[in-house]
Amino acid sequence: MTHTYNIVDHYYDVIVVGAGGSGLRAAIGLAEKGLNTACISKVFPTRSHTVAAQGGIGAALGNMGEDSWKWHMFDTVKGSDWLGDQDAIEYLCSNAKKAVIELEKYGMPFSRTDDGKIYQRPFGGHLTKNGEGPPARRACAAADKTGHALLHTLYQQSLKHKVKFFIEFFVIDLLFDEDNSCKGLIAWNLEDGTIHRFHSHQTILATGGHGRTYLSSTSAHICTGDGNAMALRGGLPLSDMEFIQFHPTGIYGVGVLITEGARGEGGYLTNSKGERFMEHYAPNAKDLASRDVVSRAITMEVNAGRGCGKDKDHALLHLEHLDRNLLKKRLPGVLENVESFLNIDATKEPIPIIPTVHYNMGGIPTNYKTEVISHIDGDTENICNGLMAIGEAACVSIHGANRLGTNSLIDLLVFGETASETAYNKIKNNHKHKKLPNIVTDKIMERFDSIRFSKGNFKAGEIRVEMQKIMQKNCAVFRNHELISKGIEKMNGVEDSFKKLNITDESLIFNTDLVEALELDNLIIQSKATLHSALNRKESRGAHAREDYIERDDKNWLAHSLIWINRNGNVKMEKKQVHMKTLTNAIKSIPPKIRVY
Ligand SMILES: Cc1cc2nc3c(=O)[nH]c(=O)nc-3n(C[C@H](O)[C@H](O)[C@H](O)COP(=O)(O)OP(=O)(O)OC[C@H]3O[C@@H](n4cnc5c(N)ncnc54)[C@H](O)[C@@H]3O)c2cc1C
Repeated sequence: MTHTYNIVDHYYDVIVVGAGGSGLRAAIGLAEKGLNTACISKVFPTRSHTVAAQGGIGAALGNMGEDSWKWHMFDTVKGSDWLGDQDAIEYLCSNAKKAVIELEKYGMPFSRTDDGKIYQRPFGGHLTKNGEGPPARRACAAADKTGHALLHTLYQQSLKHKVKFFIEFFVIDLLFDEDNSCKGLIAWNLEDGTIHRFHSHQTILATGGHGRTYLSSTSAHICTGDGNAMALRGGLPLSDMEFIQFHPTGIYGVGVLITEGARGEGGYLTNSKGERFMEHYAPNAKDLASRDVVSRAITMEVNAGRGCGKDKDHALLHLEHLDRNLLKKRLPGVLENVESFLNIDATKEPIPIIPTVHYNMGGIPTNYKTEVISHIDGDTENICNGLMAIGEAACVSIHGANRLGTNSLIDLLVFGETASETAYNKIKNNHKHKKLPNIVTDKIMERFDSIRFSKGNFKAGEIRVEMQKIMQKNCAVFRNHELISKGIEKMNGVEDSFKKLNITDESLIFNTDLVEALELDNLIIQSKATLHSALNRKESRGAHAREDYIERDDKNWLAHSLIWINRNGNVKMEKKQVHMKTLTNAIKSIPPKIRVY
């Protein structure tokens, strides 16, 4: 069925898709530089998932003990299991302090030390003296509501800088010209049902992660990785999609996050025998080892029959030995969540926890300037003109095979700002907007219509749960060839069900049924990318633990994976080299070694 839409045209220098931490920071930078900028978001800006970040933002300020950006860099490279690009990591860590001070000047209500400095707590995988020293106090925090404070601060600044917002506009797809340059996008105004074509010289995807591919996730329901799916549909690759971070401490049965800050403040884990099992798995860092290590340890304890509760399927997090007033001051949100979801007073009783999907290390491949990589010729990385990506949607790659806690929020600020610089440098000599042939828009609306008028027999919600269960079971903390292959087979079934989707409401005004269906389409293609990437990588590294290839294999696999999925659903995979060289002479590159905590 074809349907005619009256399309509203807009012309901007730059369009930012997403109003989370990364999108807002980019938009502020662009507005400051005087570029004609629009920021589009499917939800009100302060409802973006960044608002839920709890524990802190990483920067070696050294406010509460000795620290250095070079140690931060060492920890990040080691945390990434050497898959992070060292030029980008140097760029992040050496710019982190400046970004946090700027945030402070924007008015961020940080927690404070007695002498008025920004409060900093320890966090998993952050140590001093290149991993040899005690835990670093590097996580700058606003109690356990750091993301809330950060997002509101940035939103206020964006209002001050008069950023032009299009709120509750759902971006459907990107516009590409015949040279495969990105020229803008098509969006649906959820409020009045109109369709909009945004023309731009640069489009910045800041669309966040795709945690909702899994059943149990700490991510909000809006975390459907729409930008990643748009990139794939635009013929671009995604990178390192096999690396899914499980956070060790999701609230049992609910999936809601308990920040690592809880262990940073002195919390610890036990099994059914009351043993502090992390002492065996990470003798030095113990409960503050990095997330992949702790999540695997919990899973191994459960598998060995030492899980807690009647089903012996979880571990316990203890805070009850800590000072009650300290808990109320530093971790009020944790106490609240545990009380509301489990009816447990965490100042008196331990908390049942289980590893839960938390972050996507993979995403749209970019260089440290935030330009999107379209393809590689040998060692040459080619750029997609007109398109950039930042935040959790991007794979720069800072986090490699495993992200350290607090390194996402700092990534949002540093690369958000960089995106505005890069865009500014690219469009200083402004050129006119080019008229695109109608067929480009028509193709996008065809897919939209095929979903909008779909009259099969499956509800989007049913298909989504099926997809999420497959990911949870077949691409979990531990994986192997057989499990993943079965997952791929079952995911093909999910794709077939999607072709028989049933949409009852055809209207365009706040049609949440249709929004969910579009998001589901995006999730399915990313689930598929994750499964294929996981099957392809025949080693264990960071968050990717293969039972049939238990060792890290630097000889064959010290490389990023790239995956393309074409219109017919065919998959192509390639490797992209890891940047082992640093950006400047300020620091030497850190050669791979065995990763122990
Ligand atoms: C519970 C929780 C706690 C966390 N705690 C921490 C922490 O303490 N420290 C840390 O460093 N990291 C933490 N993280 C990770 C970190 O918060 C996220 O990785 C980060 O906030 C993502 O920011 P972002 O800017 O990439 O995207 P998001 O904040 O997810 O925003 C995405 C934006 O894109 C928009 N969007 C998406 N799709 C579309 C579309 N189709 N059309 C229009 N707009 C669209 C959305 O409206 C939204 O504005 C936490 C994550 C979670 C889930």
